[in-house]
Amino acid sequence: MDFTLSEEQLMIQQAAKDFAQNELLPGIIERDDAQKFPAEQVKKMGELGFLGMMVKEEYGGSGLDTLSYVLVMEELSKIDASASVVVSVNNSLVCWGLETFGSEAQKKKYLTRLASGENIGAFCLSEPEAGSDATSQKTTAIDMGDHYIVNGTKNWITNGSTAEVYLVIAQTDVDKGHKGINALIVEKGMEGFEIGPKENKLGIRGSDTHSLLFNDVKVPKENRIGEDGFGFKFAMKTLAGGRIGIAAQALGIATGAYELAKKYSKERKAFGTEIANHQAIAFKLADMHTKIQAARYLVYQAACDKDNGKDYTLSGAMAKLYASEVAMETAVEAVQIHGGNGFVKDYHVERMMRDAKITQIYEGTSEIQKIVISRSILKD
Ligand SMILES: Cc1cc2nc3c(=O)[nH]c(=O)nc-3n(C[C@H](O)[C@H](O)[C@H](O)COP(=O)(O)OP(=O)(O)OC[C@H]3O[C@@H](n4cnc5c(N)ncnc54)[C@H](O)[C@@H]3O)c2cc1C
Repeated sequence: MDFTLSEEQLMIQQAAKDFAQNELLPGIIERDDAQKFPAEQVKKMGELGFLGMMVKEEYGGSGLDTLSYVLVMEELSKIDASASVVVSVNNSLVCWGLETFGSEAQKKKYLTRLASGENIGAFCLSEPEAGSDATSQKTTAIDMGDHYIVNGTKNWITNGSTAEVYLVIAQTDVDKGHKGINALIVEKGMEGFEIGPKENKLGIRGSDTHSLLFNDVKVPKENRIGEDGFGFKFAMKTLAGGRIGIAAQALGIATGAYELAKKYSKERKAFGTEIANHQAIAFKLADMHTKIQAARYLVYQAACDKDNGKDYTLSGAMAKLYASEVAMETAVEAVQIHGGNGFVKDYHVERMMRDAKITQIYEGTSEIQKIVISRSILKD
């Protein structure tokens, strides 16, 4: 295993670092307070090629590898996890799914705009009664010959009101169970498609999370991704890669919180010396650093598995499980190291602590990752 980064990867990493510092950091506390979507910043990320990083250049993407994508996710998430989740959803769940399983016509019509950042996309699987148990889809897509009629509600959809293109999972044939599910491309503005209220969230408050309502929405057959009944497999395969992006987001939040805590511990004095000189604080930093490095290896390994054409279901789930736990733990300790200052907004770590929590929940909770991991290790 050699994670030495190439010249190109180092350049991309630096570009993301500079962008986060110069464009995401200013105004971040206000955006978090107001739940303001970072629209201008997302536009600029599109211009930098961050929204279609792994998409081939012929479809408007940057044609890069998964490791480069992970490096960008990590750098952006050190500062602003609300902005990085847009990058994660658009790259991993929307562009990757369309490029891998979409028809040529779908790629030409939708992928090019999504990869260049002209449009952003949303991935719509969760429902009021179907979260971890994604097979319990209540949204229906009734086959009407040349089109489907879609009815139902989706919950918690990232980029819910800002997206133009929505990949919607729905049940066509109840008798076939998960083999009767389809993935359809729905466009904003289709008749009967309504965007529900915005969620008022604990963390990633700048991210735009909504419920979506489908009321007799007519979706042409050519908007189905893959064969009839491929929708559940589509969702699972897409989420397997998505987890690597969220693992990288968690790694970034952990690293951002750790770096702030380390800096603060060398500035803040108590009992006549910098708090870093108290072993209780130094040991916290030692634990944080060690765990972050372990998480980084898991995340990079999963990215490399994907780039090398290996199965990344297990490595991606392990990376997400561990990195999200490290993110939560590190952010809590970063608040502790900041003392009272950790509890106020100006020092950023309280936001990171709130943001870290979501990485243990979305794209499969930690419990679901353990199901994926245990099934994988027990199968032989
Ligand atoms: C901010 C945010 C953004 C999101 N973005 C999207 C999005 O863009 N698209 C999308 O489709 N979804 C999205 N989600 C939904 C997210 O993926 C789900 O919330 C998540 O999968 C958990 O589902 P649930 O909330 O229904 O919890 P539940 O499935 O009800 O789980 C509740 C608890 O039970 C546990 N549990 C459930 N089943 C088991 C089991 N078999 N064994 C052990 N424990 C179990 C869970 O781990 C959890 O702790 C988002 C959610 C949030 C909060």
